[in-house]
Amino acid sequence: MRQNMVETQIEARGISSPKILKAFMNVERHRFVLPRYISKAYDDNPLPIDEGQTISQPYIVAFMTQSLNLKQKDKVLEIGTGSGYQAAILGQLCDSVYTVEIFPKLGKKANDLFIELGYSNIYSKVGDGYEGWSEHAPFDAIIVTCSPTHIPQPLKDQLAEGGRMVIPVGSYPFQNLVLLEKRKGIIREKKILPVRFVPMLDKEGDRY
Ligand code: SAH
Repeated sequence: MRQNMVETQIEARGISSPKILKAFMNVERHRFVLPRYISKAYDDNPLPIDEGQTISQPYIVAFMTQSLNLKQKDKVLEIGTGSGYQAAILGQLCDSVYTVEIFPKLGKKANDLFIELGYSNIYSKVGDGYEGWSEHAPFDAIIVTCSPTHIPQPLKDQLAEGGRMVIPVGSYPFQNLVLLEKRKGIIREKKILPVRFVPMLDKEGDRY
């Protein structure tokens, strides 16, 4: 089922990097979904996880991963750990992944799974990802998997020179995926795909 997902949902839609395709072959998506959805783990859509959140559609995970243009030495920040699946894919393609989740239940569950599956280059914490993770900045790449109405300044500040960030920006439920690049301290932005993500929330549960 995993091979079929890679061939029909990812490769057939233009993701051709052998490293990325291999990452999707390696990571067992069925370990990241709720038990009641295990038979749907390789389907072509997002699935519900705890706390009213979702694990993203495989193609979207692949598209965002590709847009980051990762190198093996890169240090990556993810905002919105959720199930941990996107972080697991990133961990196959770079040096280290730092991932932040606002719901303690999700953050703990994902961290336990990273340990169980031996993903030792993924570091996770529970907190408000709007603020990034300054102790480990700067990051060569930043991926945001929940949607704010504007790009958080702390994330721009924590992007390394030459760094890339991909983030769904807009008001719920419709957003654009925006790709940013920092060159000589100047950030350039372009819209790359219309998308639908869950909103970025603050500690009170309000939308950013
Ligand atoms: N990358 C995840 C997708 C999860 S959906 C995966 O592969 O499964 C987005 C996640 O962002 C949700 O788990 C949601 O709780 C989380 N989130 C929302 N607002 C956040 C914030 N301010 N900081 C960190 N995480 C946040």
